[in-house]
Amino acid sequence: MNLRSSRHVTRFGAMLLACSALMAAPAPAQEAPGVVHFGKWGVDLSTRDTSVKPGDDFQRYAAGKWMDENEIPADKSQNGVGSELNDRNQEQLRAIVASAPADSQIGAFYKSYMDEARIEQLDAAPLKADLDRVAAIKTKAEFAKSMANAFSDFGGTLFGVGVLPDPANPTMNIAFVGSGGMGLPDRDYYLLDKYKTQRDAYRAYIQRTLELTDTPNASAAADQVLAFETEIAKLSWPQADLRDLDKLNNPMTKAQLVAYAPGLDWDAYLADTRVVSPKYIVGDKTAVKAIAQLYDKTPLETLKTWQRFKVASQAGPYLSKRFVDSGFEFGKVLSGAKELRPRWRRGIGEVDGRLGELLGETYVQKYFTPRSKAAMEELVANLKLAAAKRIKGNSWMEEPTKQAALTKLGRMDVMVGYPDKFREFSKLTMSPDDLYGNVKRSAAFEWDYALADLGKPVDRKKWSMSPATVNAYNGGLENKIVFPAGILQPPFFDASADAAVNYGAIGAIIGHEIMHGFDDQGRKIDENGAIRDWWTKSDATRFTALTSELGKQYASYEAAPGVFINGDLTMGENIGDMSGLEVAYEAYKMSLGGKPSPVIDGLTGDQRFFLSFAQAWRGKQRDDAIKTQVASDPHSPRRFRIIGPLRNLDAWYTAFGVGPDSKFYIAPDKRVRIW
Ligand SMILES: [Zn+2]
Repeated sequence: MNLRSSRHVTRFGAMLLACSALMAAPAPAQEAPGVVHFGKWGVDLSTRDTSVKPGDDFQRYAAGKWMDENEIPADKSQNGVGSELNDRNQEQLRAIVASAPADSQIGAFYKSYMDEARIEQLDAAPLKADLDRVAAIKTKAEFAKSMANAFSDFGGTLFGVGVLPDPANPTMNIAFVGSGGMGLPDRDYYLLDKYKTQRDAYRAYIQRTLELTDTPNASAAADQVLAFETEIAKLSWPQADLRDLDKLNNPMTKAQLVAYAPGLDWDAYLADTRVVSPKYIVGDKTAVKAIAQLYDKTPLETLKTWQRFKVASQAGPYLSKRFVDSGFEFGKVLSGAKELRPRWRRGIGEVDGRLGELLGETYVQKYFTPRSKAAMEELVANLKLAAAKRIKGNSWMEEPTKQAALTKLGRMDVMVGYPDKFREFSKLTMSPDDLYGNVKRSAAFEWDYALADLGKPVDRKKWSMSPATVNAYNGGLENKIVFPAGILQPPFFDASADAAVNYGAIGAIIGHEIMHGFDDQGRKIDENGAIRDWWTKSDATRFTALTSELGKQYASYEAAPGVFINGDLTMGENIGDMSGLEVAYEAYKMSLGGKPSPVIDGLTGDQRFFLSFAQAWRGKQRDDAIKTQVASDPHSPRRFRIIGPLRNLDAWYTAFGVGPDSKFYIAPDKRVRIW
């Protein structure tokens, strides 16, 4: 569902219910340490702002007092539930790291990150050999080798490559190729006036980076780098196209790729990356072709200056304070944060990012109980039953499409908490006094890990998030949904909370991940993970008409002054949010088994369900961060992840008496109902 990062599935590169134990749960018998409960039964009622009409601003109605009383910390771009949980998880991880032996990989890596005295003393010295290598490049062929090297080391490349399940036969891994090279979040940042502030900050950052590495004529060199990336931007695809499977699914043999995109010696480049495969999915293919031509005509000296910047920029976070501060000076223009995060938090983030399953094995032993895993698995099973009920009851869909959808739902794998088998790290060397080397070895280790799968059967048990992550995902081409232990805590999930609360919070997230399998891109993937059209023609037409209505709603939302949501870019996530909430509500009703829900603190079950849903999104975000998100992230900003789905749900209108005099009211016949 993605609270922060923009990992998702459908993008190449980088996507019963009689009641559950949840309702019957007694007081927590074997609860993990550190759990913070919300309110008496799962919702913090004291933070509501009941002076606001629910239909005018449900986010404020559910948590307005909290929003007034909690400023965004200086080192953050947002605050709220996800950010608080992430902070708490980091504190728990820190305790594990602190007790790890100094000579263990975790202990050694963290020590190397925290040894600021040594890092200051080394200053730019660790970079020298890598920059010398760039300086020594004499031919385009040698330059292409430096781009290939960027997959396992610091450096930039114009052509991303990697491993993914074959969309025609998803039991086997093949290779993909896509474009790359930009340092700003999206092509628009280079090309549109409204991003001038961000572009200027990037230009200044390039110059500073070149100055920090003693590059002659740094100002002119920075102009050259920005001009080169601006040319790349002109050839790059818009974000919305980069998630369109119809546009991205372009299988080619290597010979076809060579003929299609002249300008780069693909044979040598692919051999150097070690991504050698009988077939490649060439994602944004016209961009790949055009950027290969740009590469061919760009002078070697320009490319070398660009690569010098890329190496130093990527290495910056692992160098002395002046490099780190320079990077933050640029980053804060995108995030709005005023201060760097404390060093230990950045360090724990690095350990979790590079050794996540090693750290995660201990994390789940200490902080994730078998009872939580069992309760969550049961909840997901209930959500799947509710999704099946909605598919069967769908009013506009023909029987063959329904059957295919049910088959896909039935085959969707569910993974909860942590992977069945933790990853092996024994071949990765971490040294307590060599942060720079540790990061390079870790990057090479990751690349080997990815390449080990090429040409082999897909290992569906592998995860792409660490167990402590506060997030979840749908692995599209593997038809599976994954819920790391890190998110399975209050207020998302609480084995001792009221059922309405769990269905409204984690239930809506489970529903979101399930329904990604049936969003505008997920619907192009079948039960095996293959890209295949399983829709009748008339159903596809009706689906597109409905989603286009939904897209219009979202495109009308002003997320920050002058910043409107991109209805196409966010389509899949918006469908996931809306359909996920519908499915969660259905599952909640099924869990009651035909009985009325109890009234608690004067609130009906439906009211508690919707308050819990909104509480899970409690939080605020800086306008700079909203601007970056809207331009480059497929998720709508949180305010619209609340009201966007709600205003299409009849039950929400009934639960809170929302009528035509409310700002977000939609007449019943205009509400969008997809699944
Ligand atoms: Zn999502």
